Amino acid sequence: MQEIKLRYDVIIVGTGVAGLNCALNLPREKSVLVICKRKLKECDSYLAQGGICRLRGDFDYDSYFEDTMRAGHYENNPAAVESMIRGSQEIIGDLVNLGVEFAREEDGSFAYTKEGGHSAPRICYHEDSTGKEITTTLLNAVKKLPNVTLAERITMLDIIECDNECYGIVAMDNKSQEVFNIFGDYTVLATGGIGGAFGNTTNFGILKGDSLAICLDHGVAVDRIDYIQVHPTSLYSRKRGRRFLISESVRGEGAVLLDKNFNRFTDELKPRDVVKDAVFAQMKKDGTKFVWLDMRKIPAEKIAAHFPAIVQRCKEEGYDVFKECIPVVPAIHYFMGGIRSDLRGRTTMNRLYAVGETCCNGVHGKNRLASNSLLESLLFAKRAAQDIAAGYAPSDRQKEAQAVGRLDGEKYKKPAKLLEKYKKHVIKAVKAAREGKDYNENYKEN
Ligand SMILES: Cc1cc2nc3c(=O)[nH]c(=O)nc-3n(C[C@H](O)[C@H](O)[C@H](O)COP(=O)(O)OP(=O)(O)OC[C@H]3O[C@@H](n4cnc5c(N)ncnc54)[C@H](O)[C@@H]3O)c2cc1C
Repeated sequence: MQEIKLRYDVIIVGTGVAGLNCALNLPREKSVLVICKRKLKECDSYLAQGGICRLRGDFDYDSYFEDTMRAGHYENNPAAVESMIRGSQEIIGDLVNLGVEFAREEDGSFAYTKEGGHSAPRICYHEDSTGKEITTTLLNAVKKLPNVTLAERITMLDIIECDNECYGIVAMDNKSQEVFNIFGDYTVLATGGIGGAFGNTTNFGILKGDSLAICLDHGVAVDRIDYIQVHPTSLYSRKRGRRFLISESVRGEGAVLLDKNFNRFTDELKPRDVVKDAVFAQMKKDGTKFVWLDMRKIPAEKIAAHFPAIVQRCKEEGYDVFKECIPVVPAIHYFMGGIRSDLRGRTTMNRLYAVGETCCNGVHGKNRLASNSLLESLLFAKRAAQDIAAGYAPSDRQKEAQAVGRLDGEKYKKPAKLLEKYKKHVIKAVKAAREGKDYNENYKEN
């Protein structure tokens, strides 16, 4: 970890796959700062289990496109979907070149798994810890770059902006509580989802949508923020804290959902929102707090090889997946909405980009198809880096000074309160969106 300077060419907020891949694809002569709120590994990217989609070949294009659109209730941006699918081989190729190890068939070709909503197996995976494998590899690659500074436990409290142009961020050192400005010609928000604002979530608790609230405050457009995906199967537990996900690929490989009498009650491979509704309906009918998931339909050797982390975690919670069913319950999982961005990651504010789960370019529509998220985050973060590089122009220092002049020092005197306020903004804005109100207008800070 290095010391933070006052000025960088590009500031990236977030060390998940989106932030890291953006840093990796920026020109080496540009100075880049990448910060995160807590530890480097405390990001949802690290938690991803199931895998990452890859277009197997042109023969699968129409089917993959249709699966993504159907899962998204046809509210997806077709151009974004096409771009993501067409770019998937490039992204998987980049990952392999960096050293990511995906499961392979005996002949060396990719082994593909399947998840709900997919009409064919097209998901590359690394056991049930694909996110850890990818994020660790990206992190190691970024750490080797002399032009990139990685800084943990630095929280973005605000953006520095004037006349719809961004000049950097207001940040806080979590340890010393010191608040300071960091200037950048370009700022990239890669701050992940918002599950932490709501609880009962598979997300890290720190991911509360800070940048969403900041964008709302500064009039940066956001879209579809009521589109929050609830995953049908997290491990039921009475303990507090983050919910442990039971990957959909478990069902893709044959696991079935059972009611209180151990009877099947739904098609487990429908898109997530459909299965989630079926689980909730069954819990209501049975008067239970969970339904059962039976992994014993999967051959034992396959369970051991493909799902070691799930086996281990269930064991820690007192369940032997080889011998018994496990209790599962839906949990808040993924944010389809977010800061409006185009296919180059540009937001409605100049010099401000948003990539990964925090942004909304419409690729997922109303409901994300399984294993499209890592891909989307990686691809559009790379495109944002390429866009910054192609149009690079230093920002105007006079305007930057004006933007600093507009900062309200009082606002940052109690950072914890400010962050709590942001969380409340997010919850309020989501509620407004659900009620059909114009949250872009209604939730500016005053
Ligand atoms: C349990 C689980 C399993 C999943 N499985 C899959 C899967 O199999 N396949 C798939 O495609 N997707 C999966 N997903 C979704 C996928 O992991 C995420 O959508 C994706 O990794 C998001 O990446 P990101 O870089 O946008 O955000 P993240 O990886 O969440 O990173 C967010 C970063 O932003 C930082 N940050 C946030 N706020 C601030 C702030 N105010 N100041 C400074 N830093 C800040 C955080 O510290 C963190 O570093 C899964 C998600 C979960 C939770």
